[in-house]
Amino acid sequence: MKVPFIDFSEQYEAIKTRLDKDLKKVFVKADFIMGDEAKAFEQEFAKFCGVKYAVGVNSGTDALYMALGALDITVGDEVIIPTFTFIATALCISYTGAKPVFVDIEEETYNIDPKKLEAVITDRTRAIIPVHLYGQPANMDEIRAIAKKRNIMIVEDACQAHGATYKGKRAGALGDIGCFSFYPTKSLGAFGDAGIVITDREDINEKVRMLRDYGRKGRYEHKIKGYNSRLDTIQAVVLSAKLKYLDQWNAMRGQLAAYYCELLKDIPGVVVPTIKSHRTHVFQTFAVRVPNRNVVMEKMQEKGVSVLIHYPIPIHLQEAYADTGHKKGDFPISERISDEILSLPMYPHMTKKQVKYVCDSLKEACGKK
Ligand SMILES: *Cc1c(COP(=O)(O)O)cnc(C)c1O
Repeated sequence: MKVPFIDFSEQYEAIKTRLDKDLKKVFVKADFIMGDEAKAFEQEFAKFCGVKYAVGVNSGTDALYMALGALDITVGDEVIIPTFTFIATALCISYTGAKPVFVDIEEETYNIDPKKLEAVITDRTRAIIPVHLYGQPANMDEIRAIAKKRNIMIVEDACQAHGATYKGKRAGALGDIGCFSFYPTKSLGAFGDAGIVITDREDINEKVRMLRDYGRKGRYEHKIKGYNSRLDTIQAVVLSAKLKYLDQWNAMRGQLAAYYCELLKDIPGVVVPTIKSHRTHVFQTFAVRVPNRNVVMEKMQEKGVSVLIHYPIPIHLQEAYADTGHKKGDFPISERISDEILSLPMYPHMTKKQVKYVCDSLKEACGKK
């Protein structure tokens, strides 16, 4: 049996008829950038997240960059992030000229450890970017308490957590600004690059709207030095069609994850995801920890199972961030998890039979029959 890492062909089947019709309309109208469908999607996504405003942009990276721009974060400022994340969480800070400040993660959730925040906060700390890694929200109550006390903004990197909840509220709506990516492999994926910024704050909504469109207010008036980072109408049509199914597809992921956990629980040394109370995990990624990860990974690939690593190198050890002066040993939990973590195939229409095959292959790869 061959098990792909992801396969969205059945998602396409579900929306195909609607897409054919709605895309044709866009082709005829030819309003390809921020057309009516894009404006409609912004409203639909804001409603889905339970916030007032959503601003469509070109990618998740741009969403984060413009969120920081809206907060006027610049040279001399510091922004705190977990070191165990995708590189874009750090890059958006570097683009502003500010300095990323790394923090280690919780071993149980792989999210930023709120207990380690106070130690790195300085007079220059302007924001914290918690990342809801793999689809489970970070410990937002503790993060918010510290941010409030120290007057620091919270920009959520919700690029892996579309639809996840924390105490009944959606990821992205838990801080001052929420940022999402619609990169094709995310749980809500476009047919190209796309992203969105959400917020309840009117001033931030206005500023991000200007930033994404040449700093424009009206047609010819440019208030600030903005960028070109807008949502394509075609992508919005795809995203609108898929958004209708997001909760359902997330529930399917959840069922597969539960089945995975059931099958994996008796393989010695394999650590399955922990879901903390008051949160839902949307399993954008189903990641487990295994002994001898690199060997196991190779053996599984030989058995036809596609697996990946999210992420093998924490940001503080990436060459691009050598200038931060960090060395091995600075963030021991992130470094150990990077060596043990393994992402197994996960997509809503994966079959139980495929999950079983992945687990059997993992068991065999771990040396147990
Ligand atoms: C995907 C992702 C991003 C970047 O999104 P793009 O749309 O690829 O720019 C940022 N942060 C995290 C955690 C991601 O998973």
